[in-house]
Amino acid sequence: MSTASSPASEPTPPSGATSPYASPSAAALISAVDTYDIRFPTSRQLDGSDAMNPDPDYSAAYVVLRTDAPDGLEGHGFTFTIGRGNGVQVAAIEALRPYLLGRPLDALCADPGTLSRELVGDSQLRWLGPEKGVMHMAIGAVVNAVWDLTAKRAGKPLWKVLADAEPEWIVSQIDFRYIADVLSPEEALRMLRAGRRGASGREAALLERGYPGYTTSPGWLGYSDEKLARRAKEAVAEGFTHIKLKVGADVADDIRRCRVAREAVGPDIRISVDANQRWNVDEAIEWTRALADFDPYWIEEPTSPDDILGHATIRRAVGPVKVATGEHVHNRIVFKQLLQADALDILQIDAVRVGGVNENLAILLLAAKFGVPVCPHAGGVGLCELVQHLAMYDYVSLSGSTDSGSTDSASTESASLGARVIEYVDHLHEHFLDPVSVRDGRYDAPRSPGFSATMRAESLAEYRYPEGTFWAAELAAPTLAAPTGEAVA
Ligand SMILES: [Mg+2]
Repeated sequence: MSTASSPASEPTPPSGATSPYASPSAAALISAVDTYDIRFPTSRQLDGSDAMNPDPDYSAAYVVLRTDAPDGLEGHGFTFTIGRGNGVQVAAIEALRPYLLGRPLDALCADPGTLSRELVGDSQLRWLGPEKGVMHMAIGAVVNAVWDLTAKRAGKPLWKVLADAEPEWIVSQIDFRYIADVLSPEEALRMLRAGRRGASGREAALLERGYPGYTTSPGWLGYSDEKLARRAKEAVAEGFTHIKLKVGADVADDIRRCRVAREAVGPDIRISVDANQRWNVDEAIEWTRALADFDPYWIEEPTSPDDILGHATIRRAVGPVKVATGEHVHNRIVFKQLLQADALDILQIDAVRVGGVNENLAILLLAAKFGVPVCPHAGGVGLCELVQHLAMYDYVSLSGSTDSGSTDSASTESASLGARVIEYVDHLHEHFLDPVSVRDGRYDAPRSPGFSATMRAESLAEYRYPEGTFWAAELAAPTLAAPTGEAVA
């Protein structure tokens, strides 16, 4: 096992940070780290198509942690890509294997934060980031697999593990390096203690009523106007009060599609729009204003996710349309700056873009400190399954709200049009053992132990690239393009 040291000093977590999950009895170890390159041929139906990603094959770089413990429990994790490059992502996960093999299981699950710091701090792998891109996403997949295993061993869904944990322990799981200038461990501890007031009532409300969602399923860019209108009406009939459309390829098309959607759902349904980074800053402002007649709620990813000041400029210019971003934001440090620059109205965490649960805890705390509502990015493959846990934890034990604003322990969210919503896309859930349940536009709280990350064995066998049964048959057929895309325009 590596003994990589941290490249920079970091604040010491408060004393008294003990895990509720330490079990001194067993001496079990991580015995295997298995990876899978899983690809689904979603590009064939244009599901998931947007202005920057016209032909995504939704894919998972998937990892399974096996142990020699008699309980037979496994930790499953993954990160999300859209096809080509998934093999690179799998290779990055495999580069982390030495940190895991032979690692004592009890200590690992009692303190995933130590592993997270070691992975981020590997001085040679760190050169590939730092804390961004393929290597950081690989860390996220591994760290999330550890949290899945931790929650399974605790016999609880992940959101409940986090909600029940002592604030001191949560603080010990967070790397405050590079964010301590705006959020210290001591302030985080105060926020987490305050966030627990009223938590039992919110947990009961969550279990009874679920968490609000919105759907992107009507609005993929490749859909016809007829399909857009039909699916928008279906979404409202299913109980959604908020839908999202992809925009950004052609302004005349976008005006027409926004009109079609608005006429289909009427004035009382929220419609957000998502440009997937398509525009320059000036273009984003002009284009968003061109859609203003249709009352868009937020404009998502109007420009490069790295352009903090550009987002701030856009936000100042397009109000009352809100600015949302986050699914491609590399890490907690960039989120810190987006918040410092007043560049965001809506912060969109992603369960697998950053370094896993530990870094998302930091990001949730930053959002709560700045009073910016979190509306998680989901869709893809398995992203809804994962990120629901983080939003539900945030509601029960941190922000205390599904409305806008910061901590309000007295809040009892009521309006289905609260500011906080989890994205929902109706793709690929059938491949998971514990798929999301969305009813009447709301996510049911998961009840099974774990992080809802485990994919069905038969799905792994069918869609593993290139040897799974689906791809083996496809690649043997001479008339079809391989998903590696050499034949894709
Ligand atoms: Mg998006």
